[in-house]
Amino acid sequence: MEKWKCPICGKEVVEGQRFAQIGENYAHIECIRKIIAEKKESIPLDLEASLDTLEATLYALIRTKEALKYSVKRDVKEVLEKHLSILEDQALILSLVVEGELRDHGII
Ligand SMILES: [Zn+2]
Repeated sequence: MEKWKCPICGKEVVEGQRFAQIGENYAHIECIRKIIAEKKESIPLDLEASLDTLEATLYALIRTKEALKYSVKRDVKEVLEKHLSILEDQALILSLVVEGELRDHGII
């Protein structure tokens, strides 16, 4: 994985952390939550819904990557690889929704 710096905290974004692609950058989910809290009294509902689902998807993605490392049988690995691919596609779509929500609410 290439090295990226989170535009919010300036620290490196590394594999195993939960992060979202925001424009050209990758930002930590915790940092995104921090800027939302700084700019909004309460989190807009669609932003919360998409961010929460993205977080859950990223968690599943990290766990599936780990499971792939210790799975043994070829057919099990194939199912996990397919699942990982679906999760990656969904994480990208959800990141785009989160980014749109952040822009719509003037947070970024
Ligand atoms: Zn950060």
